[in-house]
Amino acid sequence: MLYDHHMGIRFKKNITFKTKKIMPANILIEKSAEHIIKSKYTVAFTGAGISVESGIPPFRGKHGLWNRYNPEVLDLSFYLENPVHCWRFIREIFYDFFTDATPNDAHLVLAKMEEKGLLQSVVTQNIDNLHQEAGSKTVHEFHGNSKRLKCLKCGKMFDVTDIDLKNIPPKCDEDGEILKPDFIFFGEGIPRKAYENSFADAENAEVCIIVGSTGEVTPASFVPRAAKQNGATIIEINPQESLFTNYITDVHLKGKASEILNQIGNHLF
Ligand code: NAD
Repeated sequence: MLYDHHMGIRFKKNITFKTKKIMPANILIEKSAEHIIKSKYTVAFTGAGISVESGIPPFRGKHGLWNRYNPEVLDLSFYLENPVHCWRFIREIFYDFFTDATPNDAHLVLAKMEEKGLLQSVVTQNIDNLHQEAGSKTVHEFHGNSKRLKCLKCGKMFDVTDIDLKNIPPKCDEDGEILKPDFIFFGEGIPRKAYENSFADAENAEVCIIVGSTGEVTPASFVPRAAKQNGATIIEINPQESLFTNYITDVHLKGKASEILNQIGNHLF
C-alpha cells in the first residue's frame, strides 16, 4: 500500500495484473468509443507523448530531452543558486522549442469531445498550453504552465509573450527579482487546486483515457490509478507499453495519439 500525504487517500500500489484479450485494432477502437459514449464522466490524463506530434520532444526515451540536457537546471535548489546559468538552458528547452508548437489532432479531438459533452476534464502533466490552445476549457495543469512567469518575491504573474527573453534572466518590473517559469521544478509541490481537482475528477471518472505518459512521474501517475481504484475503465493510447499498461489499463490502443484519437473521434462525432 502507498500512502498519499497530500490527500490522505490510500491506493493499492499494484493493482492486479490482468491478461488482456487480443482483439483487432479496429474492434478495440470501436469498444473504446462505446465506453466513452456510455460513460457519464470521462477524464483524459495526458503526458508529453500527446505533444510529440506537435514537435515537442518528451523527456524520456531515445529522443528525450534528458539525453541532451542535464535535469539539474530544473532542480529548484540548484536553480535558486544558479538562476542565470539555468535560464540559458530553460530558454532553449522551453521557449525556443515550445513557442512555435501548435495543437495537433489529438488535442483537437479531446477539445471537441469536451464541447460535445463526452469529456469532463483533462488532467495534464504538460506545461505547453496546447490543450487550452486547442479549445479545452477544463484543464487541470498538474505541473503548471510555461506560458506564465512568476516573481518569487511578490507573486506577480507575467505572460511570457510580454517578456523579452533575449535578456536573461527576466526580472520583475516591481522589485527586480528574477522571474521563474510557473511550472513545477524538481523539488517543488504540486499546485493545490490542480491537485485536488485532478483527484476529485479521478474519483468521479467512469472512463479515464491515458494519452502518452510513461507513468514514471509521481504523484501525477496516481491520478489514473485513483480512477481505476474507483472503478473507472482505463483506455491507454501509447505506441509503447508504460508503467500503467500491465497494471491498470483495460484497453491498450497501440499507436500515435493523433491517429488513435482521430479514429475514436470518427465513432463519436
Ligand atoms: P515522458 O516523456 O516520460 O514519456 C512520453 C510517453 O509518450 C512515452 O510513454 C512514449 O511512449 C509516449 N509517446 C511518444 N510519442 C507518442 C505519440 N505520438 N503518441 C502517444 N504517445 C507517445 O512523459 P510523461 O510521462 O508525461 O512525463 C514527463 C514529464 O515531463 C511530465 O511531468 C511533463 O510535465 C514533462 N514534459 C512536458 C512536456 C510538454 O509540456 N509537452 C514535454 C516534455 C516533458
